[in-house]
Amino acid sequence: MDCIFCDIVSGKIPSDTVYQDEEVMAFRDINPKASTHLIIIPKSHIPTLAHLSKEQLPLMGRLVGIANKLAKDEGISQSGYKVVINCGRGGGQLVPHLHLHLIGGRYFFEPPL
Ligand code: 5GP
Ligand code: ZN
Repeated sequence: MDCIFCDIVSGKIPSDTVYQDEEVMAFRDINPKASTHLIIIPKSHIPTLAHLSKEQLPLMGRLVGIANKLAKDEGISQSGYKVVINCGRGGGQLVPHLHLHLIGGRYFFEPPL
């Protein structure tokens, strides 16, 4: 399948990976909006948030829990951070593989995302 994030999961496209387990992967955004900008994805290909089934809702809980853990690891838990999900073209989603943005620390642009 022609999907950048699936190619990152398979290792075909290299990434600066900060976390992975059997169903989730997190890596640094190639074009960061802040000093911490991570992308957190399910390894399985789910195109957008709108495609999420009821059975897949617990997976979203895991993604959010991992975002919180990574915020701690990055030292931005106290200062605060954004967790953003763009859904579909109208929601600003450019890569059609469900992902969370974890953004915090020093912002490079205002307003951030
Ligand atoms: P979206 O606009 O779809 O919510 O965000 C997609 C994000 O993926 C963007 O912030 C973009 O910089 C990032 N991105 C796109 N291609 C790559 C890539 O090949 N590697 C990494 N690490 N990030 C990417
Ligand atoms: Zn994919």
